[in-house]
Amino acid sequence: MLVDSHCHLDRVDLSPYEGRFDRFMESTLESGVGHMLCVAIDLESWPAMVELVAPWEQVSISVGVHPNDREREEPTPERLVELAQQRRCVAIGETGLDYFRSEGDLEWQRERFRNHIRAARETGLPLIVHTREAREDTLRILREEEARDAGGVMHCFTETWEMASAALEMGFYISFSGIVTFRNAEDLREVAKKVPLDRLLIETDSPYLAPVPHRGRPNEPRYVRQVAEKIAEVRGMAVEELIERTGGNFFDLFPASRS
Ligand SMILES: [Zn+2]
Repeated sequence: MLVDSHCHLDRVDLSPYEGRFDRFMESTLESGVGHMLCVAIDLESWPAMVELVAPWEQVSISVGVHPNDREREEPTPERLVELAQQRRCVAIGETGLDYFRSEGDLEWQRERFRNHIRAARETGLPLIVHTREAREDTLRILREEEARDAGGVMHCFTETWEMASAALEMGFYISFSGIVTFRNAEDLREVAKKVPLDRLLIETDSPYLAPVPHRGRPNEPRYVRQVAEKIAEVRGMAVEELIERTGGNFFDLFPASRS
């Protein structure tokens, strides 16, 4: 099954669909996308996100607060655990560290990350981890908080093979976005080639990061196919097999998405 393991459906551009979410969803499902994980970025917009996707059984959700924005309701582990009881909530995140877009003393980011890991361990739900220019601290905190027990995915992966192997060693999956299709992403394609086939996921991170040939325009879950095609190409395998395997991996990691 073609699965978009990470998208923000409450942020997609609906203008090609007369502003209607139902038209967008029908068209997306017709295009062959079988399942989507709609990922939370804060608690303020979460209830509306939950309500928006509720009619669609092909969508599962997460709960969490993105590392980028300090001015958000700060989630305690208890609060995350409570919200994670929501129907079809299958993951905690997105969380992690982003030293690229934030400046100053980032202890608040690390504390926020730790709180998500604690909630993931408590609920048994896997983590969706965002990491940017914070390799060492990300791995260190994952280890210190024993994130291995919860497992999860390094989403929109853009780091080195060294970091990928450290995450794989902790039992994590690695997810690639449309960035693998970018012309200058040769190093990343080498990483995508090496990740074991049973730990590989694909995503769009839509509405951001549209793959070639849609680069620069709003991204949509259907373009996850371009991600699949590129990775299948670099791995020298049939795209349909890559789609089946990454779809299977998705349901292995997020078993609650099956129901
Ligand atoms: Zn995201």
